[in-house]
Amino acid sequence: MKITADTASCVASGQCVLLAPGTFDQDEETGTVVLLSGEPAAGEEDAVRQAELTCPAAAIRLTGD
Ligand code: SF4
Repeated sequence: MKITADTASCVASGQCVLLAPGTFDQDEETGTVVLLSGEPAAGEEDAVRQAELTCPAAAIRLTGD
């Protein structure tokens, strides 16, 4: 599974960070999403899928299995 996050669309809700803190972080100044890796952290695959579904800006995209 590969992750992309569109920082231009991100509205800094922090939902993804709450769900998968090993995969997502937020910029300290803007609050927008920062990808810690292009793939889910260990054990966070389901949480990353949930983040894609619940991101209010539809800024998270997953490709592959
Ligand atoms: S859930 Fe979406 S809008 Fe919220 S911080 Fe993450 S990428 Fe940005």
